[in-house]
Amino acid sequence: MQDTKVLTIALAGNPNAGKTSIFNALTGAHHKVGNYPGVTVEKREGSIEFQGRNIHIVDLPGTYSLTAYALDEVVARDFVLNEKPDIIVDVLDSTNLERNLYLLLQLIELGLPVVAALNMADEAAEKGIIINHTLLSKTLGVPMVPTVGSRGEGVRELLETTIATFDGHTLPRMPNYGADIEAHIKTLEDLLKEDQAFATAYSPRWMAIKLIEKDPDAHRRIEGLGNAADIQTATEAAWHWITLHYGKDPEIIMSEQRYGYIHGAVSEAIHRKRLRGISLTERIDRFVMHPFVGTPLFFFIIWAIFKLTFALGEYPVAWLEQRFGNLEAVVQRSTLPAVIQDLLINGIIHGVGGVLSFVPLIVILFFCISFLEDTGYIARAAFLTDRFLHAIGLHGQSFMPLMLGFGCSVPAIMATRTLKSPKERIATILAIPFISCGGKLPIYVLLAGTFFPSNASTVVMLMYASGLVLSVLSTFFLRRTVLKGASMPFVMELPPYRMPTLKGVLWHVWEKTWSYMRKAGTIILAVSVLMWLITSYPKAAGIDAFTASARSSVTAAQPGLSDAAVSAKVEGLVRQYQLEQSIAGRIGKIIEPVLAPIGFTWKIGVALLPGLTAKELVVSTLGVLYGAPLDGDSEGPSLRQSLREAPDWSPRIALALMVFILVMPPCFASLATIRAEAGDKWLAFQVAYSLALAWVLSFLVSVLGGALGMV
Ligand code: GDP
Ligand code: MG
Repeated sequence: MQDTKVLTIALAGNPNAGKTSIFNALTGAHHKVGNYPGVTVEKREGSIEFQGRNIHIVDLPGTYSLTAYALDEVVARDFVLNEKPDIIVDVLDSTNLERNLYLLLQLIELGLPVVAALNMADEAAEKGIIINHTLLSKTLGVPMVPTVGSRGEGVRELLETTIATFDGHTLPRMPNYGADIEAHIKTLEDLLKEDQAFATAYSPRWMAIKLIEKDPDAHRRIEGLGNAADIQTATEAAWHWITLHYGKDPEIIMSEQRYGYIHGAVSEAIHRKRLRGISLTERIDRFVMHPFVGTPLFFFIIWAIFKLTFALGEYPVAWLEQRFGNLEAVVQRSTLPAVIQDLLINGIIHGVGGVLSFVPLIVILFFCISFLEDTGYIARAAFLTDRFLHAIGLHGQSFMPLMLGFGCSVPAIMATRTLKSPKERIATILAIPFISCGGKLPIYVLLAGTFFPSNASTVVMLMYASGLVLSVLSTFFLRRTVLKGASMPFVMELPPYRMPTLKGVLWHVWEKTWSYMRKAGTIILAVSVLMWLITSYPKAAGIDAFTASARSSVTAAQPGLSDAAVSAKVEGLVRQYQLEQSIAGRIGKIIEPVLAPIGFTWKIGVALLPGLTAKELVVSTLGVLYGAPLDGDSEGPSLRQSLREAPDWSPRIALALMVFILVMPPCFASLATIRAEAGDKWLAFQVAYSLALAWVLSFLVSVLGGALGMV
């Protein structure tokens, strides 16, 4: 009978304990694992069949506790409370058991069957931590299985134990708070049991403990009960008694009692072999976290990543550009109708090809970042930046979302869910779009490489740095004005250093690269074709007459030119003439007055428009607007050359445009995420704020550049 029913297992655990690794090992799925807190913010689910039964596994967000204050804790807690999994598997980090057991106690109190995975068994052994898991399991009344999640070891036994525990109706032993507090718990429990339905929905003991702990969510849930007033009186009596006898707040006493209980259990069951010397992690940290060495090292590492990305990326990028050039030549030699050739070359190859050429850079950059992430260094960077983040009104916890912003704003904005203070959360969400995401990289590379060829990587790095500075200043300003409020205290987690697995790193790289390429294949393709359409139509009137007069004026002005050179020049003039008459040209002309003070022409205005859909599109649109001369000569990086030769471009304009793109509102996907996470009001604020700021800053860059003698 039981076989047909689905068994729902909820995976809980502290951040970084290895939950996602165990989830992946159990389900065969490939969810992102990371060596820093806060990767899993939403619950993930998977189904498997094991021993002939259907098992549904839910990976909950990692939490240290089950209070109702932080969004990730609420997600985990609500799932357990409202959806009642059949059994909870708590994944514990064996190298840090005392702290991890704190969550286990809270899970036990929820009144459901619980099994614990003593994960990181390999590391515990390495560190000389000997855990008598049979004894610990007996003391706490929770079955325990040692596991190594990253290698899938012990995961099968864990599943078997979980099923056996469920089938055997084995319930954990409740932690004890001492006779006096237990008496108060008992009184409250009895009152809560008076409402049958309520007592089945929530474990009365858990509810009683939460009431004593002044948990706002628990207090809200009892409001509707018939004897709510009695419960309130009994709760206040408990508070009064505890404060009187212990001289501290009830919530602090409850937590101290729990730690005491844990300490008792652990002192029996855990022994540490005395290891000679200090651990590798400590030795590395002495250096990496050194007050004077740490910060310069951090900047050096970031700088090295950019250097490496460009030094290595140059070759595959050039190779890809060459391939797309060849493809273009093939299309030209084909017998396809002229309009189709035009669409293929100017719409698709220049648009999509321009974006795809940058894939190698994305791969290398994310390889470096993912590698660092998995070693545990990024968590140190968060720690190093904590002091600094405090100064601007955030703290180390915001570092990870900001860092993720270098990849893509969407997951970065979602990662802010781990922040406890709503105001810090909004401030972080608003700071993220100023961090240069992967989509902005191709624009910087193109423009810096074209106009600052000898300092390209420095200019690109400067753009990234300016984005960081801007997000810092903006946060500083917002936290003192519209988002005023105190910072929340928070304990930072420093995971031990781990050698990343190649598979894990490649998986991250693949995830990010694939989402970039998928965009190129879908939305960028569509917008490229659309841009081609609106730049090619309606066909300009009198184009033949214009071509003829252009030819004669070119030959008159430069009599010595070869036929091919004349054709190329005429081609350019005709393209310009056509563009001006097209739909895109007309839109560009409408917005030109707004952009003119910065020095942007209507053509640059046209290129900015699709940047709202996705930043990569600016490159593909420039490809369409300034595409290669159609003279059958496919050698060389033509877009760069045409930009350099175009009269409306100069290093100063390129710099101002990079700044504009850095600051302007993020892509539609990010805006949609901001709306979902922060609401309409903040979405509107973000758009207006960043548009205004983009205009002002690029105007300043343009004017200052001019004053400093830039052309
Ligand atoms: P979560 O935050 O609880 O979901 O943790 P993850 O599954 O993302 O794991 C955090 C890090 O620990 C990753 O780098 C994993 O590869 C690593 N990891 C997970 N389980 C083990 C284990 O049993 N032993 C070791 N040495 N590393 C592990
Ligand atoms: Mg996880």
